[in-house]
Amino acid sequence: MGDGPVMSMNRLLLPCLLLLLCVGCGGSEPAETEPASATPAAEPAAPPVRWAIAIHGGALSVVRPDLEQQDYRAALETALRTGTVILERGGTSLDAVEQVIRVLEDDAKFNAGKGAVFTSAGTNELDASIMDGRTLACGAVTGVTTVKNPISLARRVMEDSRHVFFAGQGAEAFARQQGLRIVDPRYFFTQDRWEALQKQLQQDGAEPVAAGDKQGTVGCVALDRHGNLAAGTSTGGLTNKRFGRIGDSPVIGAGTYASNRSCAISGTGKGEEFIRNAVAHDIAALMEYKQLTLQRAAEEVVLRKLRPGDGGVIGVARDGSIAMVFNTQGMFRGAADSTGRLEVLIGKD
Ligand code: ASP
Repeated sequence: MGDGPVMSMNRLLLPCLLLLLCVGCGGSEPAETEPASATPAAEPAAPPVRWAIAIHGGALSVVRPDLEQQDYRAALETALRTGTVILERGGTSLDAVEQVIRVLEDDAKFNAGKGAVFTSAGTNELDASIMDGRTLACGAVTGVTTVKNPISLARRVMEDSRHVFFAGQGAEAFARQQGLRIVDPRYFFTQDRWEALQKQLQQDGAEPVAAGDKQGTVGCVALDRHGNLAAGTSTGGLTNKRFGRIGDSPVIGAGTYASNRSCAISGTGKGEEFIRNAVAHDIAALMEYKQLTLQRAAEEVVLRKLRPGDGGVIGVARDGSIAMVFNTQGMFRGAADSTGRLEVLIGKD
C-alpha cells in the first residue's frame, strides 16, 4: 500500500523515458517527419553566373620574334574584348562567337573574310560554321566568294533554314535572300596572300600549304552567364587548295562542335587530319562518355591522336574551364573569363 505514490510516479516517468530514448537513438520516426523538400539539394539550382571565352587566330608552324607579332596580339585582344563585353553584360555565347569572328574576318591579318588565302586558281573560297551547345543546332557554309562575313551566313543557315550546310552558289543565293552584305570577290584580295600563292606555285606545284607563320584561320568558343556553350570557326582554307576542296572548319564535329553536355571546340590546322579524326567531336565525346576534363580530353586528341605539326584547338567547358592545346610551334590565341583573366598568347609559353 505504502508503495502507491512510487508506482504512480513510475507510471508517469516510464512513457517519458521511452519517448526520449526513441528520439535519442535516431529511430525512423524523426527521419520521416523531416520533409525531403526541405533539404538544400532539392531546391532549384541558382543560375550560373560564370562566363568564359577563348579565341584563336590560327596554328603556326613558325613563331616569329615577339616584336613582329605585336599587330597580331593587338588584333586578338580587340576581338577578345568584343566578346567579353557581350558576355559580361549577360549576352549569349552565340552572339559573342559571331561578333568576335566578324571582327577577325574584317581584319586582313587573318585568313578569314578579308585576308583569306588564295586557291590554286587564284580565287578566295571561304568556309565557316557555328554551333549552339544548348540545342545542338548548327549551320555551315563552304566555298563562298562574295559574302563579306561568312560566320553570319553560317548563323543564318542555322537559324533561318531547315538545313545545316550550304555550299557555293546555293549558299550565296541564300545570303542574298537573307539580305547579308555581298561584296565583289576582289574585296578579299590582299597583296601578301597573293604573293604567298605565287611563291607556293613556283616551289611546290600543286601542294597546298597548311599552317605558316601567319596562316590565321579564326575561331571562338564561349560559355555565357545562362550556362550555354557555343563555338564557331571561319577560314579561307589552305593556300593553293584545289578546286572545291573543303577543310575541317565548316565541318561540324571536325573543326567546330558545341554541346552543353560537355564543351565547345574550335580547331585550326591541317583540315584533312581534323576531318579524319573528327577532332572537335572526339574531345566532346571523351568528356561526355569518359568524364575526362576538357584539358585532358583535348590533350588526348591533339597530342596523342593527331601528329606533331597538325594543329591545335581552343575549348571551353560547361564549368567555365578553358583549354588551348596545339602540337605546332605556336597558335595565335586568347582567353578571358569572369574571374578577370584576360590573356593573349602566341608561342608555347
Ligand atoms: N583548318 C583550316 C583548313 O584546313 C586551315 C587552318 O586552320 O589554318 O581549311
